[in-house]
Amino acid sequence: MTNKAKLLIVEDEQAILQGLMDVFVFHGYQVDSAMNGKIGLEKALSQNYDLILLDVMLPFIDGFSICNQIREKDLQQPIIMLTAKSSEQDIITGLTLGADDYISKPFSVRELVLRVESVLKRSQQQMEQNAVLSIANMRIDTANLQQLDCKIAQQFTRREIEILHYLQQHDQRPVPREELLEKVWGYRQAENIETRTVDIHIAKLRRKIEADPKQPKFLLTIRGEGYRLLSDASD
Ligand code: CA
Repeated sequence: MTNKAKLLIVEDEQAILQGLMDVFVFHGYQVDSAMNGKIGLEKALSQNYDLILLDVMLPFIDGFSICNQIREKDLQQPIIMLTAKSSEQDIITGLTLGADDYISKPFSVRELVLRVESVLKRSQQQMEQNAVLSIANMRIDTANLQQLDCKIAQQFTRREIEILHYLQQHDQRPVPREELLEKVWGYRQAENIETRTVDIHIAKLRRKIEADPKQPKFLLTIRGEGYRLLSDASD
């Protein structure tokens, strides 16, 4: 499975880049590359890679900043940082910004390939777990957009699943309508008319997941703040 994975390698040293590309192509990966931070960031944000190998010291935009911007866009593809030296501070910075792993230069190619395989395996397991959403006493198969374990399965739309997913990922706080519009719908500027769109979807979702949609116990309105999804019913 992981052998067809698509990698992006961002590295400005030609010899290292070429060596890495050869190795991963040899191991059956699809490989794309960028030799500076600007192109690396553009590619990372516009294309769907399974994993990104990211050098720290890069022309124009450094690897930490790229990692940070990828995570700020809520993109979850695994990132392995290539740190120049085994600088503890670099490692901590990278992991804090959301990198999944790091490897210090000079590294053994064999070890790097193993790291890539293990990070990909973890991310695949994570995706499989995400395939079932457990919400409000029901389990939802997100690939088939329907409730599991019951005779007459409730159906959901792709958008509804995305809303539930986002709220569940951020269930420690209320999520403002504007944030849902930006993260789920991809709108930049929220207008009044568009926040109504969110309310309509929430109302539909409540009819599907709440025993009494007028007295929601899971999908709550927090006045003046937004919507919050609870994993256990509120009283
Ligand atoms: Ca470099």
